[in-house]
Amino acid sequence: MLNEVTISKGIINTYMQKLIDTLDIDVAIVGGGPSGLVAGYYLAKAGKKAAMFEKKLSIGGGIWGGGMMFNEVVVQDESLDILSEFDLQPKMFEKGYYTLDSVYLASTLVHKSMKAGLKIFNLIAVEDVVIRNDAVAGLVINWGAVDTLGWHVDPLTIHSKFVLDATGHPANITDVLIRKAGVKLDTPTGGIVGEKPMEADKGETQTVENTKQVYPGLYVSGMAANAVFGGYRMGPIFGGMLLSGKKAAEEMIEKL
Ligand SMILES: Cc1cc2nc3c(=O)[nH]c(=O)nc-3n(C[C@H](O)[C@H](O)[C@H](O)COP(=O)(O)OP(=O)(O)OC[C@H]3O[C@@H](n4cnc5c(N)ncnc54)[C@H](O)[C@@H]3O)c2cc1C
Repeated sequence: MLNEVTISKGIINTYMQKLIDTLDIDVAIVGGGPSGLVAGYYLAKAGKKAAMFEKKLSIGGGIWGGGMMFNEVVVQDESLDILSEFDLQPKMFEKGYYTLDSVYLASTLVHKSMKAGLKIFNLIAVEDVVIRNDAVAGLVINWGAVDTLGWHVDPLTIHSKFVLDATGHPANITDVLIRKAGVKLDTPTGGIVGEKPMEADKGETQTVENTKQVYPGLYVSGMAANAVFGGYRMGPIFGGMLLSGKKAAEEMIEKL
């Protein structure tokens, strides 16, 4: 006969062990969108200890909704190698333009990155960073629900050699660093410039160019990279997000 208490113990013990194993890691990724997932895949594949924290229930960020809730996304030639690494075969729409079911893309990125060894914690929000020796050295975490409700609950802390800000448009981790540590970035304003209007071609190139270390210990990827450096937005074309995640992983792997 199934014992309800054993079911509870299984969940509690396994989760606690997973969290304890994550308290001191190589790379802490904030945000479960496409750039963070691809970065997590390549980091884990290279044998690095990487974990992702996503404040929402579902992982996948802006992938699921496709374009205006039409659940298809577009990718371009430059991203085909990454898609093939993930066993994804997009359909050609016109020369140079391919489509992918957004639900299939999101679930495959999650599946393959976890299979490669990425640990994913959903329902956990990152509210601050840890600073050590003038470098970002970890994250301050709390339940996503606590963050949403604004409750007065003290957080917990994890250490990591690098943090990846993959939080999309708000660039939340870079923002908190600037606000609380008074940091000046190497951008035209010294802060987060904010994304420019839609120009897909430039936006896709800039997403990859802007993926870099913005402060010792802190990298940015995806829309966060574009927001920090003031790149153009690109809408529901996702090649740049995938390439950005790969670039972030490669740069961190080289330094680890
Ligand atoms: C509302 C919305 C608007 C969009 N607008 C544009 C646009 O203007 N231009 C464009 O090119 N594409 C846009 N997209 C398309 C698409 O989202 C992005 O191009 C792509 O998903 C960005 O990928 P990303 O890797 O940067 O992260 P995202 O897919 O944006 O995912 C970021 C994730 O980080 C999580 N997160 C944020 N802060 C924290 C935190 N503190 N702690 C933990 N988790 C956190 C979020 O919950 C989210 O799941 C939009 C999508 C959505 C949903």
